Formats: sequence, C-alpha cells, structure tokens
Amino acid sequence: MAQLILMPGKERSAFKQHHPWLFAGSVGRLEGRARPGDTVEVLADNLRPLGRAAYSPQSQIRARFWTFDPNEAIDDAFFKRRIAAAVERRQVLPALRGQQGLRLIHAESDGLPGVIADQYGDTVVVQLTSAGADKWRNAIVAGLLKATGCARIYERSDSEVRGLEGLTPVTGWLHGEAPTTPLSIEENGVTLAVDIAGGHKTGFYLDQRDNRQLLGQLAAGKEILNCFCYTGGFSLQALAGGAAHVLSIDSSGPAIAQAKANLALNPALPAERAEWLEADVFQALRDFRQAGRKFDLIVLDPPKFAPSAAHADRAARAYKDINVLGCRLLKPGGLLMTYSCSGGIGLELFQKIVAGAAHDAGREARIVQRLAGAADHPVALSFPEGEYLKGLLVQVD
Ligand code: SAH
Repeated sequence: MAQLILMPGKERSAFKQHHPWLFAGSVGRLEGRARPGDTVEVLADNLRPLGRAAYSPQSQIRARFWTFDPNEAIDDAFFKRRIAAAVERRQVLPALRGQQGLRLIHAESDGLPGVIADQYGDTVVVQLTSAGADKWRNAIVAGLLKATGCARIYERSDSEVRGLEGLTPVTGWLHGEAPTTPLSIEENGVTLAVDIAGGHKTGFYLDQRDNRQLLGQLAAGKEILNCFCYTGGFSLQALAGGAAHVLSIDSSGPAIAQAKANLALNPALPAERAEWLEADVFQALRDFRQAGRKFDLIVLDPPKFAPSAAHADRAARAYKDINVLGCRLLKPGGLLMTYSCSGGIGLELFQKIVAGAAHDAGREARIVQRLAGAADHPVALSFPEGEYLKGLLVQVD
C-alpha cells in the first residue's frame, strides 16, 4: 500500500477531529504508487499512522478517510460492515421505520465518503461521487444486497462533482432488471412516482420528508404558494392537509408534468384545489406582487445556489431576493417556510439573510421553528459539511 505523508502540522483535523477529508495543500508526499481510488496509508509528518484513505490525485480533496484505525483492512468485509451499520442506524428512529423512500447511506456522515444510497421500495439507487467509492462499486453493491435484501440496484452516478475526481458519468442497472411498472413510494399517506433514471439526484428529494409532513399539518384552510415544487411532494401534502388552494411553481416542464401525474395517483386528493405553473420563480413572484396577490403560507425550497463557499455572495443575493418577495406576498400573520440546501451558506448566514429580507420587505417576523433534513440524512459531528439543508419557519406580521 502506498503511503501518503502529510505536511508538518496538517494531521490535526484527521487526528483530533476525525474529519474525513485531506486537502491537496495538507499533503506532503506520496511514497509508492497509487492510482485514483486506491487505498493509501496516511501518515503524519512524524510518520505516526493516522488511518487509511482513498487516494484521489485529480481532486482538491486529495484523499478521503475510510478509517481512522491504521490497522483496519479496506476490503469487501469493510463495506459489508459499514453498510450494515448504516442500514441498522435508520431502524433506531421510529419516524424512519417502514418508510418506503429512505436514504440508506449518507456518504461521509455514514463513514462512507462518496457513497449515497437511496431506497425506493425494493429498488436501491446508488450514487458514487468519489474515486474511492467508484473503485469499490462491486463491494458496495454486495453490501447493499446483503443488508437490504432489495430486488434491484440502479446506479445514478451522473452528478457533476464526479468531474472534479476525474470520473465520467455512469448510469444503469447494477443488479436485477428495470421494473415493469413505474416506481412509486408512499410518503406520509401520499403516493409519489419516482423517476430514478431521469429525475433529479437519485429521483427524489428524500431529505424534505419531515418538512413536507409539517406543511400538511399547517395547511388546513390556507392559500398556499409552493415555489420550486419539483414533482409536487410539498403540494400533495398540503392538499392532503386540507389546503384551500395550492399554487405550485417550477421552471422544469418534466417536473411539473410529473407533479400533475403524481396528483392523479392520489384520487382522494382534491385536484380542483391545485394549480401548476411552469415558470421562473424570481419572475413569478414579481408578477404576483404586481397583481397584488397574497398567500397565507409560502414554501421556498430553491436548488443549491451556492455549491461551495466561493459562490456564497451571489447565492446570498438570490436567497435574499426570493425571501424579500416571499415576505411581501404574505398576508399578515402568514408563514414562510424557507430553505437553503447550499453547503456554502451556513445556518447563521442563512438566518441573517432571512432577517435582512423581512426587514427590506418592511415586515416584523419571528422564527417559530427551525427546520432541517430528515433523520435518514444524519450529520456526523466530525463532518459539519454534512448539514447542508437548513430551513426556517417564519411567521410574518
Ligand atoms: N421542494 C421539492 C424539491 C425542490 S428542488 C421537493 O420537495 O421535492 C428545486 C427545484 O427548483 C427543481 O425542481 C428545479 O427544477 C427548480 N428550479 C430551479 N431553478 C428554478 C427557477 N429559477 N424557477 C423555478 N424553479 C426552479
């Protein structure tokens, strides 16, 4: 095994915090040969062993730790253990038991950097985003089959971040064959089709499950505006919760089409209370303001405006913009459910942005609840970057 030897003083985050990433600037030298994804032994400058990591020569994240135990072998059995532990971890929480749509592996936070696995019924979709994860594809598939007993595994490794690792997109069936009927899950009483091949991420935004349920609980009798609705997850929960009217907006035609199809999958829901709009949210909110339209509750769940801290400034302006407009469109006492899934925007900054937005809109507002990703998206304490999704439920006077 090749050895990766760190620069003096650069062992701290690995040794003291067990942070799983080693940046290029921390690495002193590589002794021996290692190809992308190979396991290397990581040593401090004084040659103290720190653990074993996947080497990624093309990425700024030069290595990702698999283990901080210098003697733990990285082999098929390692992946079997880690995957079994991740799957078992989900059973601890009552809210996750029996969910048909469930994130089984949340990458670094489950001790498996670069590995994402989402379960939709008896199908598991994996996304491998790092050179190390890519290398261990077969072991990961074997571990998932063993831990879940699922019928089929599909790979959706077409995320842009693979490019940073020098990896090309890979998609297709890794185990079993495409099901003959469209895939769907039930989430808190609502049926939703999931397009694992063509949808966003692995097909669905499982991280918002609890927040969609909360919307359902808040919806009764309300005029609701759901911005960035994707396939209608929030919208359908609002209808199930007795909303008076739900207007949903997304700029993606296929997403809106899928949202309408999802509504049709739930004949008990009052379809006449749903309105769908394929439009740019930034423009639509301005148009509503012009038209003097008002709502009781507005959901703002935009895409990642800031993939990294480098984009934080521009992203902050975009978040501010939609949140100002959101506040302006609320009736007195209305609720704003507002989110950021940008890794580059921390919770504190997000709260400041929303505070600034309420102020600019000339409204007093208070946080009535803090919102986060569902429990199947755990955040390892050693990896605060894992807490990408943050939200605020704000009441606007
Ligand atoms: N709330 C959704 C997930 C939202 S993902 C859920 O619970 O499933 C973000 C969505 O924003 C995507 O569907 C994307 O198509 C849409 N989008 C991105 N930019 C947009 C824009 N400027 N205007 C409207 N929709 C946009």
